[in-house]
Amino acid sequence: MKKTVLITGSSKGIGAATALKFADMGYNIVINYNKSEKDGFEVLKKVRSKNAASIAIKADVSKYDEAEYLVEKAISEFGKLDVLVNNAGIARQRLFTDITESEWKRMFEVNVQSMFNCSKFAAKNMIKNHSGKIINISSVWGVQGASCEVHYSASKAAVIGFTKALAKELGPSGITVNCIAPGVIDTDMNAHLKRGDLDKLINSTPLMCLGMPSDVANLICFLASENASFITGQVIGCDGGFFI
Ligand code: NAP
Repeated sequence: MKKTVLITGSSKGIGAATALKFADMGYNIVINYNKSEKDGFEVLKKVRSKNAASIAIKADVSKYDEAEYLVEKAISEFGKLDVLVNNAGIARQRLFTDITESEWKRMFEVNVQSMFNCSKFAAKNMIKNHSGKIINISSVWGVQGASCEVHYSASKAAVIGFTKALAKELGPSGITVNCIAPGVIDTDMNAHLKRGDLDKLINSTPLMCLGMPSDVANLICFLASENASFITGQVIGCDGGFFI
């Protein structure tokens, strides 16, 4: 039986590249978008052109009911869920003293609550099957903290704590839970950065370039594979040496 992967926030960037990579590996793919419907359906078209069975579902995964709908739809369509990639995320740059309460809350809703929501519904199915892989996307800023991104850094640090605790709890049920900490990746999330700021980030990266979405997608697919069966609770960098 073919394996099924659900990738939250797969209309763009890292999520979209991950959907394409899983399609190459013969998975059934559940694409999720929230605001970018056109992009979501573009990814669906590309995935289907690789002969992968796929559906695209609109859901704001920060909302409990919508996350439940998304996971249930994935399971009813394909019979079970083998891999969950908690990728959906937002980032903002703000002086700490300018961060409003609602900005703080929204950052945690999208970057942390969504991971709780989707993992909770996915874990029920994975525990029943005694098998599954959950892969969460943190950030180098969740490991080392970024000035003017306290809310983003704090939410991405929460992803790491969540990963380690859940790996301990779900390990006996045959489920691995890992986390990736990307460095600076060339996606819409960084499109607002000025050339000079991008150059500074590149100069702080020993490999002297930005990462591509496919770099993170390759690592996600490795963690989902049987080659990674004895790896759990880990935070794995994909950052060109940015954080050593
Ligand atoms: P991106 O190009 O901006 O894509 C973000 C994706 O998340 C979009 O598909 C977006 O979907 C989705 N999303 C946002 N809010 C959502 C919600 N409430 N419900 C469902 N989907 C939602 O960003 P990216 O760079 O690929 O980032 C992917 C992940 O990698 C994020 O968790 C990010 O924090 C992390 N990361 C990125 C970098 C980087 O340098 N790019 C570095 C470290 C970590 P819609 O547009 O359809 O709403």
